[in-house]
Amino acid sequence: MTHVEKPTELPQKESFAGFSQPAAGSEKRIVISLVVLFGIIATAILILLYIVPYYGFSRISAHLPLIMAILTALVGAVLLGSLGVLIAVFALGRDVPFSRKLRSVAIKLLLPILVGLGRLAGFRREQVQHAFVAVNNELVLAQCRNGSPPRSVLLLMPHCLQDKDCLVKVTHQAQNCKRCGKCSIKDLLGLAEKYGVHIAVATGGTIARRIVIEVRPDLIIAVACERDLTSGIQDTTPLPVYGIFNQRPFGPCLNTRVALDRVESVLREVLPGKCGQ
Ligand code: SF4
Repeated sequence: MTHVEKPTELPQKESFAGFSQPAAGSEKRIVISLVVLFGIIATAILILLYIVPYYGFSRISAHLPLIMAILTALVGAVLLGSLGVLIAVFALGRDVPFSRKLRSVAIKLLLPILVGLGRLAGFRREQVQHAFVAVNNELVLAQCRNGSPPRSVLLLMPHCLQDKDCLVKVTHQAQNCKRCGKCSIKDLLGLAEKYGVHIAVATGGTIARRIVIEVRPDLIIAVACERDLTSGIQDTTPLPVYGIFNQRPFGPCLNTRVALDRVESVLREVLPGKCGQ
């Protein structure tokens, strides 16, 4: 990891015992207001793109202004219609007809724009990322509740959870952990065994992608910092990723922690057959 990152300053929602609360209203409002702002700016740009060369169109052909007006209106209608569907999905916290594919495209393309717009609007990058992950998590849970439970779940953990002095190589095989209890890996292994799910520890995005290809899970529960979690969700879409931010009491990438009760609550929620355990 080469990026420089401040120790966590935002409130860590993952420390809540009851995880299944929906994304807070403030988080939804951030995401929805940024989508609306994007819609307004995109519409203004489309109108400018039509108006500025208008007289040039009429010199080329008498019909061209009308053709360009129809094309601009079509592009505008598709764009605004798509943003409207996304706003409905984010506001309701569940998919609506035709929204799932659109959501995947939006996660890949829209998030960097929303982060940029958020910064212009005075939000910190981490605020927008937290809001995005909260809304994403709500949608992932809704997808699990409304569909069949995932057959294969992967707990994808960052290497920085491991105690910095531990010499055991857990990145190749998490089960190599000697379970001394100095870091969260021991308890995470216990959770993986209890719920019959895969667990892997990744040192970065490339290894994480390789693990996902090997395990081919239906659902990933990923723990990471803001940057890695949002980029991971973007990379793996449409595969659902429930994101939990790690806690960084010693700064970035060093002896980080995760709220185990939060991880277990997610497992119980997405694996309803295990709820009695
Ligand atoms: S719990 Fe496992 S990974 Fe963590 S320090 Fe002990 S042996 Fe190492």
